[in-house]
Amino acid sequence: MRDTSKHQGLRNQLAKVLMAKGITDKNVLEAIRKIPRHLFIDSSFEAHAYQDKAFPIAAEQTISQPYTVAFQSETLAVKPEEKVLEIGTGSGYQTAVLLELNTEVFTIERQHELFKKTSLFLPKIGYKPKKFIFGDGYKGLQDQAPFDKIIVTAGAPFVPKPLLSQLKIGGMLLIPVGDKTQIMTLFTRKSAKEFEKKELGDFAFVPMLEEKN
Ligand code: SAH
Repeated sequence: MRDTSKHQGLRNQLAKVLMAKGITDKNVLEAIRKIPRHLFIDSSFEAHAYQDKAFPIAAEQTISQPYTVAFQSETLAVKPEEKVLEIGTGSGYQTAVLLELNTEVFTIERQHELFKKTSLFLPKIGYKPKKFIFGDGYKGLQDQAPFDKIIVTAGAPFVPKPLLSQLKIGGMLLIPVGDKTQIMTLFTRKSAKEFEKKELGDFAFVPMLEEKN
């Protein structure tokens, strides 16, 4: 596993592309410049790592497009020490961005092969989530709730109720909702019963699947 000045140059370039597409959060851009994305995908496809594209990883899943990762990270406006729940660990790239933003990350993956691979890989390159969970993101993580922020990185056919109920008052859930394409949707918990909802444009994710039996 190598990280060279050539990779660094490509990452600086990628950060510029994301700025041109509207990303402004300095800490998010710094995370993009820092994290060796080429190590998150199969080495034979290294050349693709710093293009602003989603890319296949194991088990028919994808590593999200850098713009999408940056957009979700910026929109959630995470602050250091916040408790963040991530649904859909996948390659762990979004997890690494959240960790670079100094948050406490709990991350859930339902696909066992990916869960195993990523839970071994991330600590190897220095990224340590508070917890890796093999399980069903539709249920959230009741025993660690409430969370400041919840981020879903798979396309959800509907908004799972447990995720809303596991938010702190003032907390936010960012979730792409829809079947073929999704509308990025931000819920802010205003009180025990009230949620403000904002729609933030169209995205395309792999589907959020129900638990395997
Ligand atoms: N953040 C990841 C995105 C991976 S794609 C990255 O940048 O690599 C979405 C991931 O969500 C896939 O790994 C998929 O297996 C996972 N997923 C789908 N349904 C899920 C569910 N119900 N609970 C947890 N993870 C789920």
